Amino acid sequence: MKKVLIANRGEIAVRIIRACQELGLRTVAIHSVVDKESLHAKLADESVCIGPGPSIHSYLQIPNIMCAAEITGVDAIHPGYGFLAESDEFARVCAAYGIKFIGPTAEQIRTLGNKIEARALAIRSGVPLLPGTDGPVRTEEEALSFARSAGFPLIIKAAAGGGGRGMKIVRNETELPLQFQLARKEAMVCFGNPDCFIEKYLENPRHVEVQLIADEHGNYTWLGERDCSIQRRHQKLIEESPCPVLSEEERVFVGERAVRLAQEASYQSLGTVEFLYQNGNFYFMEMNTRVQVEHPVTEIVMEADLIKEQIRIAQGQILSIRGDGLRPRGHAMECRINAEDPESFAPWPGRITAYHEPGGPGIRIDSMIYNGYTVPSLYDSMIAKVISSGRDREECIRRMRRALGEMKIEGIRTNIPFHLKVLSNPAFVAGQVSTNFLNTALL
Ligand code: ADP
Repeated sequence: MKKVLIANRGEIAVRIIRACQELGLRTVAIHSVVDKESLHAKLADESVCIGPGPSIHSYLQIPNIMCAAEITGVDAIHPGYGFLAESDEFARVCAAYGIKFIGPTAEQIRTLGNKIEARALAIRSGVPLLPGTDGPVRTEEEALSFARSAGFPLIIKAAAGGGGRGMKIVRNETELPLQFQLARKEAMVCFGNPDCFIEKYLENPRHVEVQLIADEHGNYTWLGERDCSIQRRHQKLIEESPCPVLSEEERVFVGERAVRLAQEASYQSLGTVEFLYQNGNFYFMEMNTRVQVEHPVTEIVMEADLIKEQIRIAQGQILSIRGDGLRPRGHAMECRINAEDPESFAPWPGRITAYHEPGGPGIRIDSMIYNGYTVPSLYDSMIAKVISSGRDREECIRRMRRALGEMKIEGIRTNIPFHLKVLSNPAFVAGQVSTNFLNTALL
């Protein structure tokens, strides 16, 4: 492998370019017309415009990306997260072109990308999960019959769902028919597949996920867990590692179960197994077959470079890190900085007229912004990730507050004031939160 095309934009494209540079690999960025002045396009060795602004005409256009790959003669493609990262078709097209897709196989993406198939896999590998329907629920009668046996509250989920979308919480029988029809319709519109399944809804769980990595030679390891309970509308905002409330036995239990699931799927590459955790029990939710936004917190406490390792594995090399049973070193936390109004959360794109990036001990910034950069309105509003680390959780939180207090982004609005409120909330500081925290906390 000599040259890698990064089929993405934003901070993750920058992160991957940096990893390639350290590995001595040449890089090709792709960008839309709107992203001509973006940092990833500037940092790569070569950069190819692949279409107009809307991602449907650029970052999601497989033929355009493959043209760029052919013109520049790359031998591998890294998909990042979002866009085509979980498209089995993209992985298949890359393979047909003889270009290495830096990720799992198309078949693994297909199986694990379907939450119903992933549930079946979890059952086969002895991974605990919530009571739910075994297959897709296609009629109101089927939905009602499951609801009567399992009891309320329930959650209806799109089999092909992702990104916190395509979920409906149902609290009683009267609501069920309407929510069921809405869920199917939304699943069809958003994901092109109306199939939904139903499972028990937990009121106050934590979101705990396990970082996995597997090579092409049958070696598997897990690299600790992350707690991603601070969410807004099922989308993560703050993540940390380790989870502040798990015992050592619980960590090992969930890590080993995640590895078992990956082995059952003969999984190869970087991946994450997501669980809900409540009253000492774990329940499998899904497996993500790509690098996650929140991977840096694991990199810090496990002292590993996950992207470089993912690329090395795609080159056919043997795993160079073993995380099993490894204790995390200190504590790490990530705040996702979005270009949005901190009160209404409405997107707030525009030109950054002044930018000061924080630094000092224990602070890492993964971002694509710079002084004078214009945040486009067409894409995700996340513009930076501030990652803090410390000997313990307290030091980590203090550093995060110090860094966010120092960070200045002028010309647009960001959610930094919102993060500062969460970071000084007593329940958050005590580590006593659930995925419901932002619905109930008085910030
Ligand atoms: P997506 O693929 O869209 O990210 P997930 O299945 O990973 O969807 O769930 C995202 C979030 O939705 C979880 O972190 C949690 O907050 C909430 N959630 C999902 N399933 C349940 C459930 N059964 N009970 C309570 N909350 C749930």
